[in-house]
This record gives sequence, structure tokens and C-alpha cells, in this order.
Amino acid sequence: MISLEDARSLIRSHTGALPSVATALSESCGGILSEAILSDGFYPSGDRSTMDGYAIGGDEMAGTFTVVGEVAAGAVVSQELGSHEAMRIFTGALIPAGGGRVIMQEDVIRDGDEILVTQFSENRFIREKGSEAQPGQILLPDGARLGPAEIAMLAQVGAICPKIVRFPRIRHLATGDELVAPSSLPGPGQIRDTNSSLLAALLSEMGLHDLHSSRVADDPEALASLAEGTWDVLLISGGASVGDYDFGAETLTRLGFEIHFSRVNLRPGKPLTFATRGEQIAFVIPGNPVSHFVCFHVAIHLALERLCGRPEAWDFLNLEITGGAPVQADPRETFWPAHVSIREGNLVIAPKRWSTSGDTFSLAGTNALARVNASSPSAGFIQAFLLHPL
Ligand code: AMP
Ligand code: MG
Repeated sequence: MISLEDARSLIRSHTGALPSVATALSESCGGILSEAILSDGFYPSGDRSTMDGYAIGGDEMAGTFTVVGEVAAGAVVSQELGSHEAMRIFTGALIPAGGGRVIMQEDVIRDGDEILVTQFSENRFIREKGSEAQPGQILLPDGARLGPAEIAMLAQVGAICPKIVRFPRIRHLATGDELVAPSSLPGPGQIRDTNSSLLAALLSEMGLHDLHSSRVADDPEALASLAEGTWDVLLISGGASVGDYDFGAETLTRLGFEIHFSRVNLRPGKPLTFATRGEQIAFVIPGNPVSHFVCFHVAIHLALERLCGRPEAWDFLNLEITGGAPVQADPRETFWPAHVSIREGNLVIAPKRWSTSGDTFSLAGTNALARVNASSPSAGFIQAFLLHPL
């Protein structure tokens, strides 16, 4: 049996970023760039109005102006503004030649073709050509992570197929003679397969959608044939222990995988197995849903982040316990489902009631895992890491 830290080191040493590939912008969220993104032009491409109002000629600051035309967003006018001339203008429209500033429509009184400016602002209400980006300017460096804000910028500069580290192709097999689909009514001795839905949701939270999932009976032949393929990641749910029907590790060995660990000093999740075959990686995850949840966050997540080229996030906070169930210290390193919230400006933690590893009901509401071991205090402060931003 190895420590979780050693298990994580082994995962690190057998995983690295997948090759890069040009990817449609709509499928790039969460991706790590493997090229820098440069501006393809001036942004804005010309001087633009930031207000609905009137563009006025030159540096005129007072008096009345004659309205000589109109320019809406998207329009190009050839007419030039002269002294004491104004043009009706709308947000985003190009400032006509000769225009020096925009007066908000709230600051004029219009009478026919004349406007009287009642108030001048220091602000010219013009976004100047190139004030946001210049041609060839580096907008994002190689290695940057694409989130919604970055995707918006890439769309603006027409970078519709950025080169990013490829997302892994994932094969998931939920093993067990007892499993039926969540849509079915379980017969005697059967249970609904919750892990397939759990894993799909955990992967989706990471922006990983290339997932092929199947249920398979406790049959080594069927398991081996479904496990074979060109996946980057193979996840086998259940069949992780040493029972007569636990074929996970055995199947991996048969398929030519090298097992790097198969028992971790971890609660829940001791029989977690990690193996590789060339560039492919595989985990056999103990079948109980809480074990699944914990193994995913403390080990599988690391492997997936590394394949995606993302930096490792494994930061613990020291949080005050303010309620919830008592946690039982144990010699095994334990990750206790918990709920973190903000109370009077501070993060506080409430451990969930947790009886057995199969208790999916106690898992609901979990947004953190508290790290407990034999020397952890039963009250006061506890170490925990957040599973996602609050
Ligand atoms: P195993 O790792 O196969 O020994 O399974 C441990 C426990 O988890 C058993 O009680 C299984 O019935 C349960 N289990 C296994 N797979 C699933 C699944 N996909 N969904 C819900 N429970 C499961
Ligand atoms: Mg089983």
C-alpha cells in the first residue's frame, strides 16, 4: 500500500500534455493554448462612438450645431463634419471625418435641424482606433487557459480554430452484474448504476466531453473486449477489490497494461488502481459512489489535468468547523465530504454526515473535501480543498 502523495507522484511521472490540435472555438473552452494569439488588426478598427447622441465637428465646445446627417452602427458615411455641424450618431458607429467628440443625447435640446448643447463633458465618448489592440500585438501567450472571457476575445479577432492541447478521449466501463440503468426499476439484488452519471458529470465540470460509457457484467471476457480501444483514458468502475468478481486489475494486465499501484492509503478508495500502456492510462475505481467521488478528486483529476496541459491545483485551506457531522479520525488519510460556505466574510466548513461509502445521499451538497488523519483535531480547524469556486 502506498501513500496518496506517492500515488500522485506516480501519476505525475506517467502523464503529460497530449499533442496539440486546431480545435473549433466552440469546443475550446477549458483548453490550454499551444500557440500565442495575435491581434489581426486595430481594435477598434476606427474611432467609434460610445454613446447615442451627436458627433460634432472639430473642437467646438459651445453654441448650436446644424444636424447634417445620421450614422448608425455598421454604416459608413462619406460626409465630412464642418464647423458648427453635427451628425446624429449611435453607440458603436464610426465617427465621421471631421468629428471631434460626441455629445450625449441627454445633453442637447433639439429643435428641428438644430441642436443646442446644454452640457459639455470632459469625456469625448470616443473609443479611438487601436486603443484596445494593435496589429500583431500578443493578446494571449502560448500556455494560456481558454475560459469564456478568452473565447470572447478570440472570436473578436477571428481566431476561430485555436491550437490547444487535445482533450483526452475517455472510455468508461461500469462493471457489475447488479447494475441496471438509472431509468430502470431495480429487481431484487439489483441497484441503479449511479457511477456512470457521476463520472459524466465530474468530467463535464472539467470541460471533458469525449466520453464513451457502457455498463458491463462481471465477465472478464466482456470487460476485456469493451476496454480495448484507442482511448487516452480508460476508467473502470467497480471490480477494484480482491473479491471473486473483481476483474479490473486482472483485465488491465491481460491487455498489456503495467500496474503502477493498486492499493492506496486512502479512505475511502483504498483499492484504487492506476496503470499505463504506452501513452494510454487506466484507473480501476472502487465501485462505491463516495469512493468514486473522492478517488476522482484526489487522483484521477490530477491525471486528466496533466493530459490537458493544465497546471496542478492542490491547495488546502485551513477552515473553521462550524457545524455538520463529527468527523472520525482514522490512521488512513481520509477525505471527508463537506460543505464550505461564507459566513460573515470568512470561509467555514460543515462536514457532511457520512456513514458508508455507498451513501450517495450524504454526498449531496458537497463542495469540498476535508483532509483528516489520526492526528486531526475533532473540533476547531480542519484542512480542506474546494472542489470548485464558491
Ligand atoms: P466493487 O468495487 O465492484 O466491489 O463495488 C463496491 C460496491 O459499489 C458494491 O456495493 C457495488 O454494488 C457498488 N457499485 C459498483 N458499481 C456501482 C455503480 N456503477 N453504481 C452504484 N454502485 C456501484
Ligand atoms: Mg463489483
